[in-house]
Amino acid sequence: MTDCLFCRIAEGSIPSKKVFEDDATYAFEDIAPRAPTHVLVVPRAHVSTLAEASDEALVGRLFLTAARIAREKGLESYRVVVNNGEGAGQTVFHLHVHLLGGREMAWPPG
Ligand code: AMP
Ligand code: ZN
Repeated sequence: MTDCLFCRIAEGSIPSKKVFEDDATYAFEDIAPRAPTHVLVVPRAHVSTLAEASDEALVGRLFLTAARIAREKGLESYRVVVNNGEGAGQTVFHLHVHLLGGREMAWPPG
């Protein structure tokens, strides 16, 4: 989708700090990090929300990519978050997994 921020980041037409990429996923540093490590993992294909997602392999790939990046960064403890819908804090409507690490995490999240 040409008017989707994360589609454009994944295709390279809007700059980002790339962390990882493969045929199906693209990972980059969050522009407003909420933790020392704050990486977003997105599918290259446009999917607006987790609720709209139907490709089990792709959703699994997003989570396993987050775990791979965490391992490569030497993180043992980290949090993987998907905000689904405005009420949960979703502001960009292209599915993304937040990988947060490098600090203590509170529970439950606010
Ligand atoms: P969410 O609120 O779950 O939809 O997460 C959207 C995330 O995208 C937020 O953490 C933003 O800081 C981040 N973000 C917005 N614009 C950009 C951008 N151009 N590059 C990197 N991260 C961004
Ligand atoms: Zn998109």
